[in-house]
This record gives sequence, structure tokens and C-alpha cells, in this order.
Amino acid sequence: MNKQKTVVVVGTGAGGAMMAKELQGDFQVTILEAGESFKPFSYPVNRLSAWRRTGLFFDERMISLLLPNMVIAKTEDMVLVRGKGIGGTTTLATGNAVRCDDALRQLGIDLDPEFEALYQELPITTEHQKKWTDTTRKMYALFEEMGLNPIVTPKFLDAEKCVGCGHCAIGCPVGAKWDTRKLIDQAVAAGARLVTGCTVTDLRIHNGKVTSVHAKRGRTRLAFYADVIVLAAGGLGTPVILENSGIPCQKTLFVDPVLCVAGPLPGIRQDRQLLMPFISQQDGYILSPYIDYLSFFFDKRWRYPMKDLASIMIKLADDEKGSIDGPRIHKTMSQNDQARMQKAVARCREILERMGVPENRQFLGILNAGHPGGMLPLTAAEKNTLHHDFLPSNLYVADATILPKAMGNPPILTIMALAKRIASLILAK
Ligand SMILES: Cc1cc2nc3c(=O)[nH]c(=O)nc-3n(C[C@H](O)[C@H](O)[C@H](O)COP(=O)(O)OP(=O)(O)OC[C@H]3O[C@@H](n4cnc5c(N)ncnc54)[C@H](O)[C@@H]3O)c2cc1C
Repeated sequence: MNKQKTVVVVGTGAGGAMMAKELQGDFQVTILEAGESFKPFSYPVNRLSAWRRTGLFFDERMISLLLPNMVIAKTEDMVLVRGKGIGGTTTLATGNAVRCDDALRQLGIDLDPEFEALYQELPITTEHQKKWTDTTRKMYALFEEMGLNPIVTPKFLDAEKCVGCGHCAIGCPVGAKWDTRKLIDQAVAAGARLVTGCTVTDLRIHNGKVTSVHAKRGRTRLAFYADVIVLAAGGLGTPVILENSGIPCQKTLFVDPVLCVAGPLPGIRQDRQLLMPFISQQDGYILSPYIDYLSFFFDKRWRYPMKDLASIMIKLADDEKGSIDGPRIHKTMSQNDQARMQKAVARCREILERMGVPENRQFLGILNAGHPGGMLPLTAAEKNTLHHDFLPSNLYVADATILPKAMGNPPILTIMALAKRIASLILAK
């Protein structure tokens, strides 16, 4: 009898959802997800912002009260943001669909066919440019004038539906932004089983193979059995499962630290625009217009109405130095990171000054980051298999954990391309 092969996929973010969608059919897929359905932020931001003066919002971790799918962790000097729930962190993403596989290419990994397929399959567009506000157009022109070479950001988006509310990172209220919940829907429609509220703790390994996947669901302990196991619990989730299973990771955590430089500019209405409409690629960092909700709610210096705030985001490719030790995440800005960040801040200050915010009225935001990865980096040795030799033969990692370097750039598209390749390697086997 031909028994259908089985696979367990852990996580429903960029990597996990793509794996589940690609494998369901040839395999019987079971998807294990720690969180539940995604619920967008549904409070009126203006009314809520009045509460900032009461001192009610004093710790960034409280954001989970307003947005339960957003999980905050603090390291020595920054706040880490990730998504928990169906769709993973892609539900909190600003929808940027940027290809950034230079480091993979340098290892000899050519993902051209996977990117081509993704451009065909997914709603990736720059059409939002037609709806830009005057403010965004002026900012874009200023970036051009300053030689910053802005490019219109390709977005996972139905541009027709976008209402320019600027809520992309707290849950698109009109369903214009695409995220990986759609892939999970496809996998489930094709027969995959989705188990939510199910936190994978560890794997049991025997004779070089994973024999079972262990998880907690409420107070219940569960075990799952499958021919193939795919870990895609994200750059902070997968290393914990590996370490709990006796597979050490490297202290090479990167996070792409984000810092906004902002200031008051009455009536600018930068908030009436999708976030990060354009990006300027600089040496080791990117710049983009972005209003940071964490700083807006939790940083006293940001106590202006959102409509009067001008803000430019820096996203840095940090040094790959950081680790996870049980519940603790160790990540600091290296001297090199700090020096590069200072340079970027100076650039932003100049932009804001030219927009009309004098330097003495400018302020920084909360140092935060949302692109964790790199603790099991791919090397040239894995260029054909995308599978580390020391892993059990039926265990694959398919998320940001295997990215070789910090990119200082949005990684979703690249993670999905990698996942697609890994799925085809598993199918070929
Ligand atoms: C505010 C914000 C905006 C962003 N915007 C963009 C953007 O515009 N474009 C872009 O490319 N990137 C963006 N990113 C980054 C991007 O979302 C992540 O890098 C990407 O989603 C990582 O994919 P992943 O598969 O590694 O993990 P994730 O997408 O984080 O998925 C991990 C999944 O695993 C689940 N999980 C974790 N632990 C367990 C466990 N033990 N058991 C079971 N399940 C578990 C989680 O609940 C989650 O569903 C943004 C990030 C943030 C925070």
C-alpha cells in the first residue's frame, strides 16, 4: 500500500506558511502554531493617544494589551518585536516585498527561479505610488535632490483597496495588505491540518532522525509524529526548539535595529500614507518615511498628535553578534553598529531640517528591531542541500534562522524564496 508521507511544519510566518502550502498534497501536512488568529488593532489611535499623558503606557510590553499578536522582548539595549499567531510576523509587516539575496548568492545559492515564481504568484506591486499624498511626493523629491536615490517600495498589496491609513504594521483594517495567512488558507483548503495554540518545546532524536515533536497546548502535552519535520518558528523561536533538543545554535543573532528620527511639523499628515512608501538604500542601512507606533505610544518625546509628526526610519544591518539563553535574549549594538547608526542619524537630521524641522526640535525614537535571524546560518557547504550536515536527516529549518547575514532590509520575500527551494528539495528526495 502507498501510504502518504507526512510532514510537521512548526510556525505560520514567512517560512512556515510557504513550506506548508508547497508540501501539502505530496505530503499530508500538520501545521503547529503557538498563537491564534490575528486580530488587528481596533482602537481609534487619536483617542487612545490622549491617554499617553496619563502615564498609562510606561512599558513597551503593554502593547500586547492593544495588539495581542504582537510580542515584545527586551534585550540589554533594545526592544524586539515579533508576531505570534497565524501569519506570524508577516501580519505586522509593512508589506515591503524586497529581494535581498546578495549574501545567499555569494554562497552559491541562486534563487532566481523561486523569486520569479513568487513574482507570478503573489500580489507584488508599486501601484500605491499613484495614491501618494503631496507630503510623500515632496519627501521623495527631497530624497532625490539629496542624492539618496529613493526607490518606490514594492509591496505585498492590493493597491486599489489601500486607504492610506498608515496602519500597515498594526493590522491592515481593509485587507489590502497581503500576508502569509493566505498561504495557510491555501494549505488548509488543500487538506493540511492546522493546530493553533500549540507551542512546540523540543524534538526527540534517535539514530540521526527526529522521532517525535513535543508541544504544549494549554495544560496538555502533545506529541506529533511525521516523516519530515520543518522548523519555521522564526529567528527567535527556532533556536530555542533546537537548543532544547540538544542541537546548539551559534551566537550570531542579528536583528536589523530600527531607529526613527522625528520632529513636530504641524499638519504634515505623514500618517495619511501607507508606511515605508519608498526606500533609500545606503551602505549597510536603509532610510524610509515611517511613523513608529512603539515610540508614538511609549516615548515621552513623541507626545505630539500623529498628524503633526515627521519621522524617518533607519534600519541597520547589524553585526551578527547575539544569543538566546533560555528566556533571555542577548543583543547589544556593537561599536561598529553604533558608529554606523550615528552616521545614519546625521543623514536623517539633515532630511528633517530640510523638511522644516529645526535640529533642536528633533528627537529619536525607541531602538527596536523586528528581523531576528542568523543563528544557524547557511554556508557554502550547504549551498546544494540547504540542510546542515549536523541536523537529523529528516529535519529542516526554513525561516530567518538560516539567513547567513543581517540584511538591513525587509526579509520576507527572501525567506519565502528559500522556503520554496527547501520544499522542492524535500519533494525531490
Ligand atoms: C513591525 C514589523 C514590520 C515588518 N515589516 C516587514 C516588511 O514590510 N517586509 C518584510 O520583508 N519584513 C518585515 N518585517 C520582518 C518580517 O515580518 C519577519 O522577518 C519575517 O516574518 C520572519 O519570518 P519567519 O518565518 O522567520 O518568522 P515569523 O514570521 O516570525 O513566524 C514564526 C512563527 O512561528 C510561531 N512560533 C514561534 N515559536 C513557536 C513554537 N515554539 N511553537 C509553535 N509555533 C511557534 C510564531 O507564532 C509565528 O507564527 C517586519 C517585522 C516587524 C516586527
